[in-house]
Amino acid sequence: MDFSSKLLENAVNEMAQLPGIGRRTALRLVLHLLKQPKEQTQYLAEALKNFRDEIKLCKNCHNISDMELCEICTNKRRDPELICVVEDIRDVMAIENTAQFKGFYHVLGGKISPIEGIGPHNLTIEDLVQKVERGGIKEIILALSSTMEGDTTNFYIYRRLQKHEVNLTTIARGISVGDEIEYADEVTLGRSIINRVPFEQGIKR
Ligand SMILES: [Zn+2]
Repeated sequence: MDFSSKLLENAVNEMAQLPGIGRRTALRLVLHLLKQPKEQTQYLAEALKNFRDEIKLCKNCHNISDMELCEICTNKRRDPELICVVEDIRDVMAIENTAQFKGFYHVLGGKISPIEGIGPHNLTIEDLVQKVERGGIKEIILALSSTMEGDTTNFYIYRRLQKHEVNLTTIARGISVGDEIEYADEVTLGRSIINRVPFEQGIKR
């Protein structure tokens, strides 16, 4: 791509760093901004900057939050004995949309993936184990996607929690293998949370 302007080229290059945005799309977006009032670009830039500077991770569940503790963790009407383990905030949002889960979450921040160099210590698994050790938790629901990485992570958590007094369950698989749970429809996902099964049942098969 040959640019008549260095400023345009820089803007396109930055935009094209984002996943799923090729240089053509980046050019279209940047030219779109140029046609809009100047303030719109300013609001966009400010929103991104404020988000990046001020966003926090909830101290309890590690979900993205504006406060030290997120709205879910401070909700007294939720059940603290029930914890749903997910990969990231998109899964929390998907499960919240089903309105079928009233416990707390534990956001891992990813899945174990040797290929990508992500080990258990890169995730919040240790914190989950400590939570269980502190007591007061009856059930941990594993709600990771059924990919190889998801299965590996589930199994690792199972091994770490095996000797603890806690029920380990997994969401029922109405969701086909390889699907990320964020893409499952609400009804299917809601049903799979209600119909969860003991984790050990899954590994004996
Ligand atoms: Zn939280």
